[in-house]
Amino acid sequence: MRKPTYNLLDAIGNTPLVKIPLDSSAEIFAKLEYLNPGGSIKDRSALFMIEEAEKSGRLKPGGTIIEASSGNQGIAVAMVGAVKGYKVIITGSEKVSEEKVKTLKAYGAKVIICPNVDLKDPKNYHNLPVAIQKETPDSFFLNQYFNLANPRSYYENLGPEIWRQTEGKITHFFAAAGTGGTISGVGKFLKEKNPKIKIIAVDVDNSFHATRGNPKPYKMEGIGIDFESPCLDESVIDEFLSVSDEQSFAMLKKMASKYGFLLGTSGGAVAHAIQNYLGKLKKGDMVVVIFSDSGRAYLSKNYY
Ligand code: PMP
Repeated sequence: MRKPTYNLLDAIGNTPLVKIPLDSSAEIFAKLEYLNPGGSIKDRSALFMIEEAEKSGRLKPGGTIIEASSGNQGIAVAMVGAVKGYKVIITGSEKVSEEKVKTLKAYGAKVIICPNVDLKDPKNYHNLPVAIQKETPDSFFLNQYFNLANPRSYYENLGPEIWRQTEGKITHFFAAAGTGGTISGVGKFLKEKNPKIKIIAVDVDNSFHATRGNPKPYKMEGIGIDFESPCLDESVIDEFLSVSDEQSFAMLKKMASKYGFLLGTSGGAVAHAIQNYLGKLKKGDMVVVIFSDSGRAYLSKNYY
């Protein structure tokens, strides 16, 4: 039983690890990151990066946090900002679901939706925070793609948590990659504990990384390696598996109606990847897959 918590932020982490009863001689467990208070795995990195900025003096009481986020990192920053009393400005792309924009606003964040322009354009949602920071006193740009506290947060909290919950028996780890923070941080921790553990990154077939620099549009949110990000540490990743929109979306209803996991689109991609991987597993293998966010934010777009 969890003890009473005196601050909402102390409720981040310690998420359940639940067996998925797939037809396999190996055991597959899902880490239910959608049960974090802000609804996703990104609560962990938001809290960690904000507290690092506080410690280093880059973020001062009453200041403003700015972030470019396709969704969950922004939502988590908005929630942590609300609890800690910071103003929050989020820039996002036109692709972000309406539910996510409303969630950001509910937490009190100012949301700026940017046009779908080239990455080099200053109006692109990844670049606009730089201009906003210049004109906003006491502001801090979280910068999840280039802030190494992002993978470090997963190295310091999620990795050890999975190791403890599996009592060191984990043999394979699957996570969707966007910035690469999750897979790189957890991967580094698990490899240090046992180099034989297989670390498998799930990417989008049309991403910058999967297409070797010729990306095409895709609909999944949160997942997809579209940057040469220092947060992605390929040295701890054994394999990249790429999944299409159609493959992810086809898994969503099945995972909810057959097993009770209501997943976001990156969870659909991870579920597809593990289904296809079952043939490579053997008795005694213990797999942990990450379900990063809930299907609640995707009902009108991806569930029919
Ligand atoms: N799934 C979802 C739903 C996400 O929002 C994110 C964050 N972009 C990821 C997976 C990937 O996490 P990371 O950025 O740590 O690679």
